[in-house]
Amino acid sequence: MTESTKPHVAFLPSLGVGILTPHLELAKLLVNHHGFQVTFFYITTDASPAQNNLINSADLPPDLHIVHLPPLDLSAVITLQTRVLTRFSLNVQENLPHIKTLLIQLIPKPQALIIDVFCTQALDFQESLPNVPIFTFATASAHFLAFSLFLPQLDRDVVEGQLVDLPGPVQVPGCQTIRPQDLIDQATDRNNDEYKWYLYHFKRVSKSAGIIMNTWQDLEPVTLNALREHPFYRNIHTPPIYPIGPIVKETEPITETGSECLTWLDKQPTGSVLFVSLGSRGVLSAEQQTEFAWGLELSGQRFLWVVRAPSDISSATLYNVGGVGSHVQWGLPEGFVERTRGRGMVVGPWAPQVSVLRNTSTGAFVSHCGWNSTLESVAYGLPMIAWPLYSEQRMNAAMVAEVLGVGVRMEGEGGVVGRKEIERVVRMVLEGEEGRRLRQRAIDLGESSVKALRLGGDSCLAWAALANQLNGQC
Ligand code: UDP
Ligand code: UDP
Repeated sequence: MTESTKPHVAFLPSLGVGILTPHLELAKLLVNHHGFQVTFFYITTDASPAQNNLINSADLPPDLHIVHLPPLDLSAVITLQTRVLTRFSLNVQENLPHIKTLLIQLIPKPQALIIDVFCTQALDFQESLPNVPIFTFATASAHFLAFSLFLPQLDRDVVEGQLVDLPGPVQVPGCQTIRPQDLIDQATDRNNDEYKWYLYHFKRVSKSAGIIMNTWQDLEPVTLNALREHPFYRNIHTPPIYPIGPIVKETEPITETGSECLTWLDKQPTGSVLFVSLGSRGVLSAEQQTEFAWGLELSGQRFLWVVRAPSDISSATLYNVGGVGSHVQWGLPEGFVERTRGRGMVVGPWAPQVSVLRNTSTGAFVSHCGWNSTLESVAYGLPMIAWPLYSEQRMNAAMVAEVLGVGVRMEGEGGVVGRKEIERVVRMVLEGEEGRRLRQRAIDLGESSVKALRLGGDSCLAWAALANQLNGQC
């Protein structure tokens, strides 16, 4: 086989479906539209079935090579109690020596390395590979990146106590104010390893050659301008940013159940169905799941609901009781599935989300506001009922409702949102005047994303600049 002369870029993503998805899509775009070949390191240790599914069933072009890193025994450093970012960071750390060896041996030598913002230990590769610039890919919003870059400063300013107990909102340059209770999970306890790893990564991001971002100029103009020009970000030496989004997956594997969902959707009236899906690992409590089901039933609206076992019922119990039939009814009121049959469909634990959002029968989306789900919703012009659960989703939900104006945010006093409130909001979004206004705004934003990617659009220009940099043509 002759060696390809195409420019070569290596990828080191972190873990989790929400992070792997945009890395994989970026890699595909580089290969399919910009003439690159890509080597994509995939950490298999501790990878969830959903991640493996994503990698194994991805529709990959021949110039995208996945390197499955051999599994490691991490029992000495990671236990069942280790939380998500600490888990990812330690996993990357343990895999790092092997990745470095593979990277140095790669033929042809890569022109650049793209790493996730949560893999910044790899920025030390710079010493062994001085001519290979390392770019970070911040897969969430510009707002989230700005907050994260500001966190070390906030940490210095707030001398004692927890950030979530601050008396007033947090003011980050270039961002709307953030309510302390909306801060990311990792910032809730400054004594926890999660927080320490978070600070570690964002103190190091400025060592990268550039930050690739899954957003576009017209979606977050104030924050993107601040990241480029505000003295705070200049003083911490924020590298050039490349907002090339939206990067939203175009294809996905469709299982038999997925295909049943789509066939059912095809038969529903245009814009009539509420899609309910809480990301790759979102679950509700049993009490909330029951209230949610009642709210949907009372609303009288059509729905497609991706149901998972409630958080307080372990999946071990679930699978022992067994079978998809009992799975989907878990936490649902007696007779719910039968009473709503015809106008509602319950599937679990996974649905082909992009195909559902793209279907013209879908009229609105109840989302946990993971950044990929948020962009997918906007790209298909759908209003959202924001139901944030974990990670940075509370910040995203605030943005969806208060800045972008494409959704309403659900918040239950004491943690549980009652059925009457769910009924009210579902009706409002699907059939009310407010729903039409949100939908129009979502359609407008979707159109602005198409414009950004067109020849001469902001994201298209950022792509051209990025491709030049990756190719070593400054
Ligand atoms: N997803 C899907 N089907 C599901 C749930 C999720 O296809 O039933 C996909 C969704 O389209 C998105 C990704 O999984 O691309 C979830 O990423 P996101 O950033 O929204 O959330 P996270 O998984 O990080 O919480
Ligand atoms: N899942 C699936 N098809 C997919 C991806 C995920 O059926 O393409 C299922 C997966 O098998 C699991 C659930 O969705 O039952 C959530 O996956 P997991 O707990 O592995 O997700 P993560 O830990 O990444 O959040």
